[in-house]
Amino acid sequence: MSSRVDGVRPIRRGKVWLVGAGPGDPELLTVRAHRLLVSASVIAYDELVPAGVLALASPDAELIPVGRRARGCRHHEARIHPLVVERALEGKDVVRLKGGDPFVFGRGGEEAEELAAARVPFEVVPGISAALGAAAAAALPLTHRECAASVTLVTAHAASDAGEGDRDLLATIPREGTLVFYMGLGRLEETCAALVAGGRSPQTPAAVVSKATLPDSRLVVGTLETVAALAREAALEAPALLVVGEVVARRVESPAIADEAVARLAR
Ligand code: SAH
Repeated sequence: MSSRVDGVRPIRRGKVWLVGAGPGDPELLTVRAHRLLVSASVIAYDELVPAGVLALASPDAELIPVGRRARGCRHHEARIHPLVVERALEGKDVVRLKGGDPFVFGRGGEEAEELAAARVPFEVVPGISAALGAAAAAALPLTHRECAASVTLVTAHAASDAGEGDRDLLATIPREGTLVFYMGLGRLEETCAALVAGGRSPQTPAAVVSKATLPDSRLVVGTLETVAALAREAALEAPALLVVGEVVARRVESPAIADEAVARLAR
């Protein structure tokens, strides 16, 4: 290899950029993420990274799928892909592209720890997390002066009845304010039931947002009592988020441009 002299590793290490790819729509990439993506020679990406974002990569870039499925390894073993470290040690800069924001349920923290342990320099580029993308796409404010002074991002695993640890997590979820559950589609019933058991009213407004910011995005609105069944009926697909709280009832429909024009004419 040209970068090595007589088998000696080059002194310069590459840098790994832990980059948030945003919730789906490529237009929601940050300017920095876009710049890195179009110029990167090595891109390691998760399965959640949408095709439209990956399509921005240079045709010459080495694309490395590093999702759990790609590695065939189980959830808890998931850490940074060995090729990412290897390429960096070869002196290459690597874009490690992650859905949403790297530090919101993205295991970005674990990857950063591992890079630091391998003495590989890294930098984090934030992305728009799915909760923020979903809120914007559904015109649903996450906080509201009249009804929600906080928003909590939760993993739906917190509402599982699988083990004591999970129950402890559920106990830490605030009793007021907006809740956004990630990774929740398979556990909608359990999550809603656990919240009601934990003291939230069954009539609390709740919504499921599927594929937020993507062209086939869908939204189902109901209450803690009804939203799981409604989402099943509508056959909503992953990735999806569950939003719980009064803010769901504060959704604002944008008036159609045509309506506005008619209203203006009628004035
Ligand atoms: N780091 C990511 C989250 C990774 S966990 C972020 O900040 O957004 C993966 C979960 O994110 C999915 O199970 C789903 O709950 C949510 N998610 C990601 N993209 C989404 C989208 N476009 N619409 C709705 N939910 C999404």
